[in-house]
Amino acid sequence: MYASVIIEISHESLDRTFEYKIPERLEGKIEVGNMVKIPFGKGNRMITGYVTEIKKTSEYPPEKIKELEGVVKNTVSVAEKQVLLAAWMRKTYGSTMIQALKTVLPVKKNVKQLEKRKVILAVSKDEARAELSEALKKNRKAQARLLSELIEAEELPEKLITGKLNVSKTAITALEEKGILKTEADRVYRNPFSGKNAEGTAKILSAKQQAIVDSVMKDFYGGVRRTYVIRGITGSGKTEVYMELIKRVVREGKQAIVLIPEIALTYQTAKRFYERFGDRVSVMNSTLSEGEKFDQFERAKNGELDVIIGPRSALFTPFMNLGIIIIDEEHETSYKSEVMPRYHARETAEELARISNATLILGSATPSLEATYRVKKGIYKEFVLDERLNGGELPKVNVVDLREELKSGNRSIFSRKLQELITDRLGKKEQIMLFINRRGYAGFISCRACGEVIKCPHCDVSLHQHNNGLLICHYCGYTTESVKICPKCGSKYVSGFKAGTQQIEEKLRQMYPAARILRMDADTTKNKDSYEEILSAFANNEADILIGTQMIVKGHDFPNVTLMGILAADMSLSVGDFRSSERTFELLTQAAGRAGRSEKPGEVVIQTYQPEHYAITLSAKQDYEAFYEEEIAFRSLMDYPPVSHMLSVLISSKDEERAVGVANDLALGIKKQYEGVHLIGPAPAGISRINDMYRYRFYVKDSDEERLNGMKLELEKEFKDPKYKNETIVIDYDPMNMS
Ligand code: ADP
Ligand code: ZN
Ligand code: ZN
Repeated sequence: MYASVIIEISHESLDRTFEYKIPERLEGKIEVGNMVKIPFGKGNRMITGYVTEIKKTSEYPPEKIKELEGVVKNTVSVAEKQVLLAAWMRKTYGSTMIQALKTVLPVKKNVKQLEKRKVILAVSKDEARAELSEALKKNRKAQARLLSELIEAEELPEKLITGKLNVSKTAITALEEKGILKTEADRVYRNPFSGKNAEGTAKILSAKQQAIVDSVMKDFYGGVRRTYVIRGITGSGKTEVYMELIKRVVREGKQAIVLIPEIALTYQTAKRFYERFGDRVSVMNSTLSEGEKFDQFERAKNGELDVIIGPRSALFTPFMNLGIIIIDEEHETSYKSEVMPRYHARETAEELARISNATLILGSATPSLEATYRVKKGIYKEFVLDERLNGGELPKVNVVDLREELKSGNRSIFSRKLQELITDRLGKKEQIMLFINRRGYAGFISCRACGEVIKCPHCDVSLHQHNNGLLICHYCGYTTESVKICPKCGSKYVSGFKAGTQQIEEKLRQMYPAARILRMDADTTKNKDSYEEILSAFANNEADILIGTQMIVKGHDFPNVTLMGILAADMSLSVGDFRSSERTFELLTQAAGRAGRSEKPGEVVIQTYQPEHYAITLSAKQDYEAFYEEEIAFRSLMDYPPVSHMLSVLISSKDEERAVGVANDLALGIKKQYEGVHLIGPAPAGISRINDMYRYRFYVKDSDEERLNGMKLELEKEFKDPKYKNETIVIDYDPMNMS
C-alpha cells in the first residue's frame, strides 16, 4: 500500500503530494488525514505531513519509494471529506494546501497538558499479548511492563505509567506510533448545567415555526439537501427552530454544527443548548486553548458529541456523520477569516454540506445580500418569521435630521429629541442605550449644513482624508484637494465627524450629572471578563445609560431598555466600502431591536445628516425587502458582489515606490491577459502603512468566478519570481475588509 503525503512546509514550490510506501506493520492503521512522519530529501530528514490518499499501486519504481515512519501522536486525523474541503478552500481562497489543511484540523501544541492524560489500549488483548511477547523477546522491558499492566487495566493515567511504572514517554510514544495504544486527555468536560431535564425546556412551536421544521424535514427525510434562509427578527423564535431541527437530525443518528458569532456566544445561548441536549453538546470559543479545541474535536470524532456550538472554526469539527449545519446571524462579517486561507464560513459551510450531504440553515434578521440574492435566484429557500414571540411591540423609530439641529443652533452631539427622551427615561427609571459606530474615525468628510458626503466620482464610496489633507478613494486611488466649502450648498461647516465613546461619556456626565453611566468599547473591555461584567451590571440595573460601540447591539436582552439612541448613523454609511449601506441597515435594524423587548414600549432615535438615505429610511421602517431591492440595484449597476465577484490584491513593501510599481505591473499583466476585465486601482489601502510596510491594492471585478480563480493562480505563480522576494502579496476573494 502507498500513501500520498502533503508535506508540512508552507512553501509554494513544495505544494504537491509525495508518495511513500506504507510499512506492513502500519497497513490498515493509516487513514487519509493522518499526520505522519516521513524521511524527506537527500538527507532523509524526518519531517511531518498529511496523508491525502491511500492507494494500492504507485507510478514510481519501488526502489525509489521511501517508507513512511509512523503516525505522529497527538494529532487528530482529518476525515477524507475534510481533505476535500481543504482542497476546495485552497482553490477558492488561495493558499497552500498545507495552510488549508491546518485550518481544517487543529494540531495539539500544548504539550504541558500531557500530564493530565491517560493511556488506552488500542488493540485487542490478544494482539497486545503478541506485542508483549515480542517486547520480551527483544528485551524491551519498559514496553513489556506497560503492556502487561494495560492488558489488565485497559487504560491508565499517564502519570502513573511514567511515575510508578517507571516507563519513559519514549516507550509510550513508540507503542502509540505502532498503533498498539493511544493517549487521550483525561479531562472531564463538565457540563455546567447538568442535572436539568434535557427535554423539559422544549417549547410548543408556533404554526410558523412548525411549518419551517416540517418543510426542512420533509426534504431531509426525502433525501433532499439544500440551503435554507430563515429571515426572522430577533425574538421571532429562530433558535427554537434550530433546536427542533437538530433534535430530529440527531434522532436520525447524525450530528449538528451550530455557528454563532463569537460576540453573541453568551452564557444564555450556551445554557439553552445544554438544557436541551445535555452532555451531548459542547461549546467552543476563543478562550479554549489549541489543546482543548483538539480534545473537543477528538470527542466529536469518537462519537461522544451530537452538537457543537462555536464561532467560525467550529465548522471543522470532524463529525463522522454530519447532518445539519446552522449559521446564526449569517450576515456577520466575523464569518470571514482575515488570515490565509481567507475563507467565508457561509460559502465553506455550503461546500462542507455538499461534501457531507448535510442540510444548511442560514438565520438572520437581516440576511446578507449574498444569501438573499441566492434566494431570489431560487438556489436557497427562504422562510420568514415576522413576529416576536414573547410579546413586545416593534419600537417607534424617530429619524432626526442633524442639519436641522445645526440650523436651530444646537451644536451638541445630542439632538433635542434625544435629550428630551433621555430626560424622560431617567425620570421613569427606565434604561437607555446609546450607540456610536466604532468606525467613526474612518476620516470621511461631510457637510454639517446639507449632509453632503464627499464621494469618489468613479466608485460612489466616500473619500478618506489623509494626514496630508488630501482626499483619497481607497478603491481606485482618485485623489483631490481637501474640501473647505461644501460643493453642494456652499456652507463652510465641512468636516469629519470625530466623536468617540469617551467624549460622549464626558458630555453626558456634564449634561446628566445624576445619571449612572457605563461605557463599553475596546478600551473598557480589554480584560477577558469585562465584557460580561459590564453587560450583567447593566442587566442588574446598576446603571441608567450604557454607551457603546457595535458590541452593545448584538443579541442581548435588556427588558428595561426603552430608549435606543443612534448618535451618528452616517458613520457606518461613509466608511468608503461598497457594503456600507448594507452594514448600516443591519446595524440600525439590530439596534432598533434592542429597545422595547418587554411590555414597555420602546423608542429609537436615529441621528443622521442623511435622513433621506434608503439605508436609514428603510431600516426605520424595518423594510428588508425594499432595502434589498435598492441595494442590489446599486451592486448590479456598479458590478459589486454578489452580482459580480471581486479579487482584492494587496502588495506590501518597505519601499513605497516598489509597492506602487509592483501593484501596477501585476495589474497591467492581468489587464493584458484577460480581455474586458474590470480593473480598479491600484490605490493606497485603507491603512496605507503598517509596520513601515507600504500597502497598495488593486481590485479585479468579474462576474465569472472561474476566470477570477484563474487570475488568482496566475498572480500567485507570477509572484514566485525572485524579483518579488522583498514584497508580499495577499489575495482576497470577495473581500469584506478593505483596510
Ligand atoms: P430568535 O432566535 O429569533 O431571537 P428565540 O428562539 O430566541 O428567537 O425566541 C425568542 C424567545 O421566544 C425566547 O425566549 C424563546 O424561549 C421564546 N419562544 C420561542 N419559540 C417559542 C414558542 N413556540 N412558544 C413560546 N415561546 C417561544
Ligand atoms: Zn452642504
Ligand atoms: Zn474611486
